[in-house]
Amino acid sequence: MHKWVYQFGDGRAEGAAEMRDLLGGKGANLAEMSSLGLPVPPGFTVSTEVCSHYYGNGKCFPGSLQQQVEDALARIAELTGRQFGDDANPLLMSVRSGARSSMPGMMDTVLNLGLNDNSVETIARQSGDARFAYDSYRRFIQMYGDVVMGLDHHAFEEILENFKNRAGYVLDTDLTADDWKQIVSDYKHLVERELETPFPQDPKDQLWGGIGAVFQSWMAPRAITYRAINNIPSDWGTAVNVQAMVFGNMGRNSATGVAFTRNPSTGEKALYGEFLINAQGEDVVAGIRTPQNLTEAARLEAGTQEPSLEAEMPEAFAEFCTICNQLEAHYSDMQDLEFTIQEGKLWMLQTRSGKRTTKAALKIATEMAAEGLISRNEAVLRIEPAALDQLLHPTIDPAAKRNILTKGLPASPGAASGGIVFTSDDAQDAKAQGRNVILVRVETSPEDIHGMHAAEGILTARGGMTSHAAVVARGMGKPCVSGASSIRIDLRNETLSVAGKVFQRGDVITVDGTSGQVLEGEIAMLQPELSEDFATLMQWADEARTMAVRTNAETPADARMALSFGAEGIGLCRTEHMFFDGSRIMAMREMILAEDAAGRRQALDKLLPMQTADFTELFDIMRGKPVTIRLLDPPLHEFLPQSEADMEDVAKALGLPMDKVRQRTRALHEFNPMLGHRGCRLAVSYPEIADMQARAIFEAAIEAAQKTGAPVTPEIMVPLVSVKPEFDLIKARIDAVAEMVMKERNIQISYQVGTMVELPRAALQAHRIAETAEFFSFGTNDLTQTTFGISRDDAASFLGTYTAQGLIQQDPFVSLDQDGVGELVRIGTERGRATRPNIKLGICGEHGGDPASISFCQSIGLDYISCSPYRVPIARLAAAQAALRQEK
Ligand code: ADP
Ligand code: MG
Ligand code: MG
Repeated sequence: MHKWVYQFGDGRAEGAAEMRDLLGGKGANLAEMSSLGLPVPPGFTVSTEVCSHYYGNGKCFPGSLQQQVEDALARIAELTGRQFGDDANPLLMSVRSGARSSMPGMMDTVLNLGLNDNSVETIARQSGDARFAYDSYRRFIQMYGDVVMGLDHHAFEEILENFKNRAGYVLDTDLTADDWKQIVSDYKHLVERELETPFPQDPKDQLWGGIGAVFQSWMAPRAITYRAINNIPSDWGTAVNVQAMVFGNMGRNSATGVAFTRNPSTGEKALYGEFLINAQGEDVVAGIRTPQNLTEAARLEAGTQEPSLEAEMPEAFAEFCTICNQLEAHYSDMQDLEFTIQEGKLWMLQTRSGKRTTKAALKIATEMAAEGLISRNEAVLRIEPAALDQLLHPTIDPAAKRNILTKGLPASPGAASGGIVFTSDDAQDAKAQGRNVILVRVETSPEDIHGMHAAEGILTARGGMTSHAAVVARGMGKPCVSGASSIRIDLRNETLSVAGKVFQRGDVITVDGTSGQVLEGEIAMLQPELSEDFATLMQWADEARTMAVRTNAETPADARMALSFGAEGIGLCRTEHMFFDGSRIMAMREMILAEDAAGRRQALDKLLPMQTADFTELFDIMRGKPVTIRLLDPPLHEFLPQSEADMEDVAKALGLPMDKVRQRTRALHEFNPMLGHRGCRLAVSYPEIADMQARAIFEAAIEAAQKTGAPVTPEIMVPLVSVKPEFDLIKARIDAVAEMVMKERNIQISYQVGTMVELPRAALQAHRIAETAEFFSFGTNDLTQTTFGISRDDAASFLGTYTAQGLIQQDPFVSLDQDGVGELVRIGTERGRATRPNIKLGICGEHGGDPASISFCQSIGLDYISCSPYRVPIARLAAAQAALRQEK
């Protein structure tokens, strides 16, 4: 006969902590606590397999379930001396749902199940406390009526509120036994009136109703939504825990409470929690009365007179402390506990690993390692890499009130408040006047760089997670919400309309790039602070890590920031980003719009000293650490003058008539710029661009090496290569320039020339390209774009539908598509190494900062990952975890 039911209690259990999948989290831990000999009220767990059976068989229970439940009830009767269903000696139960991981949306717990009009009288007599008996009964009718029978709990609360008002009561504890009797009668009438059926009096009916309701709630809309958001498969199912009741509402020497073995917001090693005297279950969290502190220390700190548990019930408290230590040591993790004290006797009702802030997580992990509870490697594995974001950016104070206007994509983490501006020039002006602003645009373009720099945060109506706004904001470490499609921007009147409200220029809003929320007004923030615990844990991570972590950086500020976060070099310096600023974009435009080589050379001559100075500074900052510089790869359209005024400026600078400029702009127009005249194709047509950049790099390398005494080995990267001859052509130009500069300066420099692998053809032909390329860097943004044939600038408008319907699991621009794009990376790696075994391999797309993608990089043996500065700590930790898991 198949086993559906697992018993626990009296120092024994049929389940164990490892059986989470079968018993759910709550059931597995109840079993474990019971086996440890802790005081757990006896009970049983109906396994998740029953849930699967229930849904696989037209909502029928397996045949042998009933007998197994009867057997379990009989054992509880033996242990408690009470009989479920016997009105003369009643046993009351709780029915609790319990999925593998705690899941909001599941059925709420039903307490005091088994009470009816007869057994309530017995309980009153036996306990000598009719108030307690009828208080329990009314709680049961309300809970059962609400969660099993589907009545709105407000209806019950209204009855109670009206009664209290009429009688002049304030607290629930003011009600007498007779009062509760009256309430019970009113509650039962409510059920009969609303459902045209009496409240069930047979405890067995009540029990099966409760078990059925837990399984039903697995398919409730809110549970389905929660699973969809959190990627929880629906075939996991939930378990049901049925457990003998213990009563915290039996008078002044009874209580119920919750506790954490360490402080969940700071991580401090001190018991933390609350309790209520003479109360049951949810009263503590429901806020009906203000709970009291567990410890004297906490009471003193809170400055209240209400006695602590430590003072009120010293014996039960001491036993509880012992159990806390035992459980923490047993699970070697901070525990979140629920307990009840019935007439002085302590009962444990739940334990699980406690949720905590990142700050607390770091403290707890490092301290537990110091205490010898866990190893350093285990400590490293305990921290969720993505959660480090919380530490690096300001976050909205969780206690602050949020008035959410709309939600867009969480494009760049952190939160910021400021007055609305609609143009980058306004942003810059405001910044100059010392005002904080949020730049609000339909979408951003390279011309907005100065505005993005000046603004505290960025909000766009269009664009996805790899839109211009998102990528640039992440690189700058600025909060950004992109693709907030419900906002309306009226540029002429300078208004922003959202959620039925109209905001003028200067009105203050807040963007939360961590959640994607856009909020009204200014909101209190928590400032980032990097603790000693952070430094300790990152050091342990670095010891475990095998891949190097570099950063994507062009500006000195970014490079310094990345270094301070622990970057070990630059994996991608996108030189075109160096030309987005003010005067430089003009020179860029001149170069792009020039009609012939002479015109281009003239513009390039202006750019050469700027480039040399840029590179010198970068090399200088990096002090001999590797720096990969990518030759110009401008999506041309991002640089073309848009407005008439821009064109006039260019015309003046080039000494050309407006017509010519307009004509040239038109001629350069591309239907598909992302697949157009960009990357190395530009250098093939205009090799003088590559010449200029190569010269700037070599001269800068010499200069920086002389200045700092640290030799520089620049890595020059050719973008968007698809055929080997393309690469060879440009490499030959670079080598020629190198020779020339070395001769001029009479100095030897070592350098490497490699390519970015960002087209499927390059990955497939990696063995050929590796004959001459000395390193590869997988540019997975473009590789994703070209593998899927999806434009990343346009993806936002339809990819959401794909993920919503489960056609793809995740946005491939955020987390590497390992089956498709990843396969090309793997092929490129294998074929590249086949030709050149020591070829240096890295990744430099947005994926370089994504933990799941980093784990993939580890599995195929890349040498390094490169990501935006603010993601460097995340990448270091994720790479360490990937290495540790691979070892296991
Ligand atoms: P949740 O997952 O929402 O915490 P629980 O099943 O843990 O739901 O229970 C909710 C409340 O009911 C908790 O405060 C718990 O302590 C209390 N409770 C559950 N079972 C019992 C029981 N057998 N006796 C007394 N209180 C109980
Ligand atoms: Mg609980
Ligand atoms: Mg690219």
